[in-house]
Amino acid sequence: MPERLLEIEDLRVEFKTRDGIAKVIDNLNISLQTGETLGIVGESGCGKSMTALSIMGLVPIPPGRIAGGRILLDGEDLLQASEPRMREVRGNEISMIFQEPMTSLNPVYSIGDQIAETARLHEGLSRADAMARALEMLRAVGIPAAERRINEYPHQMSGGMRQRVMIAMALACKPRVLIADEPTTALDVTVQAQIFDLLNDLKEKTGTAIIMITHDMGAIAEMAQRVVVMYAGHIIEQADVGQILTDPRHPYTQGLIRCVPHLTQTPSVERPPLLEIPGVVPALSQLGSGCSFAPRCQYADAKCRAEMPPSTAIDSGHDVACWLTEREAAA
Ligand code: SF4
Repeated sequence: MPERLLEIEDLRVEFKTRDGIAKVIDNLNISLQTGETLGIVGESGCGKSMTALSIMGLVPIPPGRIAGGRILLDGEDLLQASEPRMREVRGNEISMIFQEPMTSLNPVYSIGDQIAETARLHEGLSRADAMARALEMLRAVGIPAAERRINEYPHQMSGGMRQRVMIAMALACKPRVLIADEPTTALDVTVQAQIFDLLNDLKEKTGTAIIMITHDMGAIAEMAQRVVVMYAGHIIEQADVGQILTDPRHPYTQGLIRCVPHLTQTPSVERPPLLEIPGVVPALSQLGSGCSFAPRCQYADAKCRAEMPPSTAIDSGHDVACWLTEREAAA
């Protein structure tokens, strides 16, 4: 029976802006089980990266503020943890990889030194043991000729190899949770596929749970077992990946899926047109009382503009926040 490893309960994060208080995360509830991959999907500004920063204890305060909620790692509330305790958590228990590895790797140290330093800091290994761990991790992430390349510097490697190094560094302390924030956006398609295979393979071997943050439904289809769709700081739909891809109910989720060409390309079926979602994510300091997607939604009516739809279970494990579910039930 998989155990609940990480639980986010009623999380609220606000930022003070010149235009007022922006609710960047509003009543977020997520749970992550040991060994699963949870996808968090949405456009820029939906709150998915802020969710990751909240878990890591890296929300810039001020101008940010945790306005409420709990983030429980094995029952320990990380929002109440001291900064020294959070330094232990980051790396030892939860690691993160980012979109652009060059911004996270130090250009003046060899990749072996950087991975070894992580292991020394977090596990107190000797220099020799830490270098042995670095070599082991470089092999695990499929760096060819790892014995030689351990002495190379980041600029001597391709983008795909640097991302593998980032993954090696993130996994060097054998974390229980890996947060991957758009880990393949800067890479070409074949390298993306290799990184997905690598993450899936490492998850199988180590049991590390993964939170995959992306705007790309194609990446979700490759990686996730469960999917949370975020819009303007809220979860608007969540379900197993199969339900989300074959039976998306929220108009925003449907729009995200229509933006992905290969998910609809079955040779025998006439291809629906590739569509974009009109408009942009609203300013979070200007949200009214209604559904935040209403200005972009072809189904919006007066009730949508006046009242925020509650999250409703429409099937086992499939929740949607949209007044269409009520309209369909009444039809
Ligand atoms: Fe569209 Fe209304 Fe559903 Fe919002 S609640 S997504 S406006 S139909």
